[in-house]
Amino acid sequence: MDHTSVRVRFAPSPTGPLHMGGVRTALYNYLFAKKHGGAFILRVEDTDQTRFVEGAEAYIVDALNWCGITPDESPQLGGDFGPYVQSQRNDIYKPYADKLLASEHAYYAFDTSEDLENAREAAKKAGLPGWQYNHITRSSMKNSLSLSEDEVRQRLDNGDPYVIRAKMPRNHEVRFHDEIRGWVVVNTNNLDDKVLFKSDGLPTYHMANVVDDHHMEISHVIRGEEWLPSAPLHVLLYEFLGWEAPKFAHLPLLLRPDGKGKLSKRDGDRLGFSVFPTEWKVPNSDETFSGYREDGYFPEAFINMLAMLGWNPGTNQEIFSLEELVKAFSLDRVGKSGSKFDHDKTKWFNQQYLRSKSNSELAELIKPTLDANSVSRETSYVEAVCGLIKERATFVKDIWAEGQFFFKAPQSYDEKTVRKKWKDDTAEVMTGLAEVLSTIDPFNAVNIEAQFKSFLETKELGLGRVLPNFRVLVSGKGAGPSMFEICEVLGKEAVIQRIQSGVKAISALKASAQ
Ligand code: GLU
Repeated sequence: MDHTSVRVRFAPSPTGPLHMGGVRTALYNYLFAKKHGGAFILRVEDTDQTRFVEGAEAYIVDALNWCGITPDESPQLGGDFGPYVQSQRNDIYKPYADKLLASEHAYYAFDTSEDLENAREAAKKAGLPGWQYNHITRSSMKNSLSLSEDEVRQRLDNGDPYVIRAKMPRNHEVRFHDEIRGWVVVNTNNLDDKVLFKSDGLPTYHMANVVDDHHMEISHVIRGEEWLPSAPLHVLLYEFLGWEAPKFAHLPLLLRPDGKGKLSKRDGDRLGFSVFPTEWKVPNSDETFSGYREDGYFPEAFINMLAMLGWNPGTNQEIFSLEELVKAFSLDRVGKSGSKFDHDKTKWFNQQYLRSKSNSELAELIKPTLDANSVSRETSYVEAVCGLIKERATFVKDIWAEGQFFFKAPQSYDEKTVRKKWKDDTAEVMTGLAEVLSTIDPFNAVNIEAQFKSFLETKELGLGRVLPNFRVLVSGKGAGPSMFEICEVLGKEAVIQRIQSGVKAISALKASAQ
């Protein structure tokens, strides 16, 4: 195999939606490929038909596209090494299983599931739990190593169901170099005789994975740590088939926020955050799992956050665009230990990306929400609102939640402010303030602030007596961005009108409460 060109693959099984750990694996593969000018391939590993889930492949493709980590070769895009779905490659695998049989690196096994269950039970009774089909137990099972040649032939001729198992050599040290973990050494005495070919005539993951990685000229296998125990078998299969193995890199796990165990798909709902990139509606059920896209995250923020879960740039820089990640990424900066997922940090990333967007980009993003609320204002106005609110927002939807008073006069007034700050003379004070405001020209933040301050001085009023009430009248809220800037954006007429109608409404409220 030509190792000068980097070819990596992301090889999910379409057994459900892609967990964010899977997205991170795809991302690291993508970054590695792009960094080395190589190809990033999507291969769908659907050899286990019993776990096939309708819609999962489409979900994976859509999620990767949303994240911006689009493959160079895939079932959808094709490529020189297709097909890219294992169930469409069925004819490719069997000859290699036959080759392994011929070289005695594999054997036929005829055991029924009952036979296997009995063997397991017997071992348990004898105080040996964790029974395995291996170099010791295989001699007491029904396979082409333990049965006579005649019987084997007869069973095959009869069409008896069989699987093909890998024959693990006895006491052999398998060594391989993992790009993240260094040397990994495993003695074959600790490995079982894995099934390579199933009785349904399809290869297992191990067989198909190795054959495809070879055929697709994969240079580096970058995948989750959960596949590390399979790697020695894969290394042996390459050896048995006379092929050069790709390089391996097993990524650390994504851990739950408390660090206790792997982040699982159920954790999200339990702990109040999404574990999937996009929403997943479970087929034929009412169940839906939430996703980062629908939660309002920017894909760039989601990807940036994931990149930092397991990899570090060696500097304090935290914000990276995808292009910057490509430049900075290297496998030797991927850690060995698991990384804890941090929901607050994830929100922080989104906030940073939101802040870095221009007011006009944000105005564009908020437009659908304005339309949905039947609000239509000139773009420059919407941009000014976004400029004022963006420091207080984590998501685009917060701009609406925090800033809808810019589009609609308040219908209610922050209860706490009214209760604590609205005194008997407030109505008069605020009417006086409205009069002062009406004289300001041009009506901009600097002038408004100056006039407001001199109003306080003349009337000998403290800021705390006036500002909260001013805010609640104009915005309905107890907190928000600078009042002077809010007023400038709203314009003189709207501000004065809001003070006047608010004074009436609150006075009426207070009167009825007495
Ligand atoms: N099909 C495996 C999975 O679902 C792929 C593992 C690998 O990358 O070798 O994750």
